[in-house]
Amino acid sequence: MKIVMLGAPGAGKGTQAKMLADQYAIPHISTGDIFRANIKEGTELGKKAKEFIDAGALVPDELTVDLVMDRIDHEDCKKGYILDGFPRTINQAEKLTEALGVKGGDIDYAVNVDVPDEAIVERMAGRRMCPNCGASYHVVNIPPKKDGICDRCGEELITRKDDQPETVKKRLAVYHEQTRPLYDYYKEKGLVVDVDGTKPMEEVFQAIVSRLGE
Ligand code: AMP
Repeated sequence: MKIVMLGAPGAGKGTQAKMLADQYAIPHISTGDIFRANIKEGTELGKKAKEFIDAGALVPDELTVDLVMDRIDHEDCKKGYILDGFPRTINQAEKLTEALGVKGGDIDYAVNVDVPDEAIVERMAGRRMCPNCGASYHVVNIPPKKDGICDRCGEELITRKDDQPETVKKRLAVYHEQTRPLYDYYKEKGLVVDVDGTKPMEEVFQAIVSRLGE
């Protein structure tokens, strides 16, 4: 099963993507996570991506598209995958469609986790992540067992630089301008599954699984 996650930054699509990856035993591919890992390791890609990410802008397509195309060619993607944070522009979506078309297919579903902007800013203020293992939390919705500490590896949690309120506003503007058009792109193909992302995490998950199948 090949799934693309749609929705604004902070809509909870990363959390759902991880749960879906477990449910269907397919890899969760998050471009944001890949960039952050590269930044942490100080790679050339990381250095280039960092300035865009910190400013709340998109990393240019030429740094993003090939990265994902290579990743979905790996052996572990044979049975499918969940793309989280990609595509983010119409150009990226067209590149993905083209690449899959060559193999005679397309994605199976574009899951749209819908949350209004007002709720997004509030949510992102509470978002925390582990700089060591990448686990994500929310002070209210997904609190760690021990305040400020990662359940998985014991590292101190941080607020992502791009989750600061000013950057969040910029990211939302970028989302509406460049990413939201993907909704119509996949709607026309009849692939969109809409879910209400304001509901509790487990309910959102069940709503998705009931539409995609066990
Ligand atoms: P995310 O973790 O998905 O919110 O991504 C964090 C940041 O990484 C975004 O705000 C962008 O700067 C960058 N990024 C992630 N995925 C993409 C993409 N597909 N195209 C361009 N930039 C991306």
